[in-house]
Amino acid sequence: MTERKDKIEVPGASEDGKTAESTFRPPVATRSLRNRIDSRTVTTWQANEYILHCLPDGTLTFASDSFCAAFSKSPGDIIGRSIYELIPEDNRAAARAQHKAVTPSNPAITTEYRIITAGGEIRFHQWSFIALYDRERKLTGYHAVGRDITEHRNTEQALRENEECLRFLMENMGDILWTQGLDLKTTYVSPSIFRILGYTPEERYRQNVEDQLTPESLKVAFERLAHELEIDGRPGVDPDRSVTIELEYYHKNGSILWIENVMRGIRNEKGEIVALQGVSRDVTKRRQTEVALWESVQRLEELSITDSLTGLYNQRHFYNMLALEMTRTQRYKRHLSLMMIDIDDFKAFNDTYGHMEGDRVIERLGIVIRNCIRKTDIACRYGGEEFVVLMPETTAVQATVMAERMREEFRAHAFHPRQNDTVHKTISIGISQCEPGEESRSFITRADSFMYMAKRMGKDRVCLSLKENGWLRPQKAAAGMKSPEGGETLIPDRQEAISLLLAHVTDERMLSHSYASEAVMRSLARRLGKNEDLWAMAGLLHDLDIERVGGDLTRHGIEAERLLRERGYDPEMIDAILRHNETASKLPRETDFHHALAAGETITGLITATALVQPDRKVASVKVKSVVKRMKEKAFAASVRRENILECELIGIPLPEFVELSLAAMCGVHEQIGL
Ligand code: GH3
Ligand code: MG
Ligand code: MG
Repeated sequence: MTERKDKIEVPGASEDGKTAESTFRPPVATRSLRNRIDSRTVTTWQANEYILHCLPDGTLTFASDSFCAAFSKSPGDIIGRSIYELIPEDNRAAARAQHKAVTPSNPAITTEYRIITAGGEIRFHQWSFIALYDRERKLTGYHAVGRDITEHRNTEQALRENEECLRFLMENMGDILWTQGLDLKTTYVSPSIFRILGYTPEERYRQNVEDQLTPESLKVAFERLAHELEIDGRPGVDPDRSVTIELEYYHKNGSILWIENVMRGIRNEKGEIVALQGVSRDVTKRRQTEVALWESVQRLEELSITDSLTGLYNQRHFYNMLALEMTRTQRYKRHLSLMMIDIDDFKAFNDTYGHMEGDRVIERLGIVIRNCIRKTDIACRYGGEEFVVLMPETTAVQATVMAERMREEFRAHAFHPRQNDTVHKTISIGISQCEPGEESRSFITRADSFMYMAKRMGKDRVCLSLKENGWLRPQKAAAGMKSPEGGETLIPDRQEAISLLLAHVTDERMLSHSYASEAVMRSLARRLGKNEDLWAMAGLLHDLDIERVGGDLTRHGIEAERLLRERGYDPEMIDAILRHNETASKLPRETDFHHALAAGETITGLITATALVQPDRKVASVKVKSVVKRMKEKAFAASVRRENILECELIGIPLPEFVELSLAAMCGVHEQIGL
């Protein structure tokens, strides 16, 4: 094809007397222009552009193969015809005018035409005409180069439409596009921010982050950013990852919106994150719906596990929690106790006062139970007038304290089921502590059987198993407590001691006396700088065996010693308890409390002295002398001599003060020991 460049025939060119000597005559303008045209001719020709050449009147003298092929014509069909026939009719006049307007100094024109092909297809052409002049600056013809720019125009059009579409989206979409610096200041934000947060982009650029996010969300955002920057670049961390984070933003109107941000890092050429880009959307409604849904599910769930009369959990929940807690307890070797509570003689109450009044009793028991348990305990109405309390991290002994408190509080409540009728109701409680490997059925049955034992023993009481097992051990002694042999010794945990006491002493007066003795001994130990816990527990347990020995005071102390030694408690405490009762005939004379006092072991003598102060609060107002006199009247104190008490003075506490102290402690005992 290139040989055509050298010489091109122009048939019919002489029609109007003009010579047809040369076709590709370069324009006179400049040499460089000629070069450009020549080289362009070749390249465009090769690039399948169209080349035409015509005389000044428009008669075609040359048409490239590409042009002929595009229009399905042979050169013979074209050469000799007027170029204006090829130009679409409605462009012809304009084309003529343009061609006429060219000058040697301004010889080129570029025009676009809309062409309808023989097949009826619309195509767009771009044509550049260059006027050719001879040396005398006389027009010799036109050289025309054309291209089909239909595809190009279509692409352009599509791009333009895309761009418009994008702009429309940016302005109208529900999402906000943005970029931010690592200080979270906005560097770009789409106009849609106005629709969502009420701010214009310009207002946003001026804002500090504190004006955009709530303090909590600001903290969350910075923490997350710090985390992402920290892990960035670590193996396994995707550099293209996007992070989704929901934060609370201020709307310009002062309200707060939940916005979901999907963001990723913008990196510099070194790959470091230098800024952030993201898309944000308002998810307030979604969150509100989620919260409402969650709340209603919670409410339904709560309702499904709640007993409507008491507000405590129902039996279904109890069994679920029991399974859960037992698994946990068995796996981690923790304590777990169970309380079974039943209202005493409730049927009779119902029969007398009716079910409605009965319900008020059940309701009250619910309140009492709730008052007495800890947050972690699970209290349920098991059915009817029976309740259960599941107590994680609690030994049976610790549960006893809680049970006693419940029993007392419930019994203290006065019901008025009928005018002028005041009724106090009582409860019986059975307690079991989960044993290693125990099945739930046995765990419940044991608590239940202890509850029935309490009923059999006369109701209004707490019964439990004090069976020793791996999990029911006395606490270790406080740091620094050493046995005489130098080994560590054990002081009973107070709750454990109470439980032990309750298992052996049922008489109210004796129990009250024991608590009083505990308080007095604690005060005395404090005054004398002795071990308070050890002295207090000695006081609490000194009459542990009083009911066990019946009327045989010669065994009093000896039985207690046996019970306590089995449990491995501190020998000093056990000795003091053993010897506090000087009537124990089996004791050698020299080991009784006189001896102990002489050896400076004040604890024994003081327990004795404490033991003699009766738990009758009425004595609080009587004088020392009469107290002693009254004490002497008691059977079990018969052999106690007044001088025993006077011995107190030998260790630095005057008798009157001691008695005062004892009485004060007794009177205030409930407050002091927290029962
Ligand atoms: P005990 O001291 O041996 O427990 O004697 P009790 O009379 O309480 O005997 P029992 O536990 O067998 O009686 C339970 C009674 O509780 C029977 C029933 O009338 C009553 N009861 C059970 N559920 C409800 C209730 O929801 N409301 C009322 N008012 N009474 C109930
Ligand atoms: Mg019952
Ligand atoms: Mg009952």
